[in-house]
Amino acid sequence: MLPGGYLKKRLLRIQVGYLLSEGPGNAKEIPITFSQRLQVADELYLDALNGKLILTRTKEGILAQGALQVAHTRECDRCLDTFTHTFTLDVAELFAAHSDTSKSVFFIESNGDIDLAPLLREEVLIEESYRAVCNNSCRGLSAISGNNLNETGESREPLESEADEGLVIDPRLAVLKQLLS
Ligand SMILES: [Zn+2]
Repeated sequence: MLPGGYLKKRLLRIQVGYLLSEGPGNAKEIPITFSQRLQVADELYLDALNGKLILTRTKEGILAQGALQVAHTRECDRCLDTFTHTFTLDVAELFAAHSDTSKSVFFIESNGDIDLAPLLREEVLIEESYRAVCNNSCRGLSAISGNNLNETGESREPLESEADEGLVIDPRLAVLKQLLS
């Protein structure tokens, strides 16, 4: 893949006109397989999006249900480094047959398309409003130097030995200090 290249978000449009003309209860499984960088919104790109959606014709429109695996490069909330955040989105959303905001904020367009992009954008933003870290053992930033503790090996607080320099220290700690130096 070329650097900076990405799949266009129009690929997230699905033609459902044929399902609409069939009666309620008819369903179709749609595989979702994007293994490259994919634009979802002006400011949102995913690294991968995979899974499947079941589209079911209901009285009100088309119900989209399924689980999608998302990979998204974002900042760690602890150390601020970028990492690939992977998570599953459980989708269950009605695309109303007619633009009627009392039933759903999503609707089938006049050409018979549904557009998954605004739905995905909303779901990803909700998911990522929760704290996410690059690794459960991420040590974050030093309160003293501001350095990334995952990289520098600095301790979070001043070492006991630094604070107590010159004082008699516990012999067990002295052994530890020898091991460390
Ligand atoms: Zn981190």
